[in-house]
Amino acid sequence: MDDLIQKKDALIATAKRCFDLRLQTNAGGNLSVRLDSVDAIVIKPSGVGFNECTRENLQVVHLDGTLEPSDHKPSKDLDFHLDLYRIRDDIKAVVHCHSPWATGYASAGIEIPCLTVQTIEKIGRMPLIPLSPQGGPQTDKEISPVFQDRHVVAAVLANHGTIGVGTTLLKAQYLAEIIEETAHIAFVRDTLMAAHGKTAADLPQYGTAADARAAAV
Ligand SMILES: [Zn+2]
Repeated sequence: MDDLIQKKDALIATAKRCFDLRLQTNAGGNLSVRLDSVDAIVIKPSGVGFNECTRENLQVVHLDGTLEPSDHKPSKDLDFHLDLYRIRDDIKAVVHCHSPWATGYASAGIEIPCLTVQTIEKIGRMPLIPLSPQGGPQTDKEISPVFQDRHVVAAVLANHGTIGVGTTLLKAQYLAEIIEETAHIAFVRDTLMAAHGKTAADLPQYGTAADARAAAV
């Protein structure tokens, strides 16, 4: 099977997983994957739900912005997807969704803390990117500078949603899941701490026992 068909099928499977996990309902959010042979990506178009992606409705867009013929409107977030691929050759896939726990934190203007060993290991830091200066949704102008730091693999968009990037769609999807799971855990922690009058909690410094042992030597 050629690369284009394989990438389309992987995108359809990832989108379905995201929908099944309730990380993205309706036709919001978007996800994309880089093709191997040409400077182009496959992306979900505007107005198509994560559960309704097909080989026929997915779009192919070149990194210079040229859209292969399509009956659908391109995603509103196409520009930031394209720019992430342009600025980072290690980014091969992007999953952007409006998952509710993470977006709740982002709408309160609170950066989601990396409070589990897994988030320290897999993410390290989840920057919160504010709305555009006009109060509109974040664009490549706000998003790309954050991802110029090659350590950044996940970010949260104020009043909007989350971004996970990776070398494969599944890796980007895992990050979308970890961001949401971490926001849920943070809410439970913060609620319990408030109920018990606690104001401080420990945060892990290391993601793995091996890292901690290595640092202790
Ligand atoms: Zn969005």
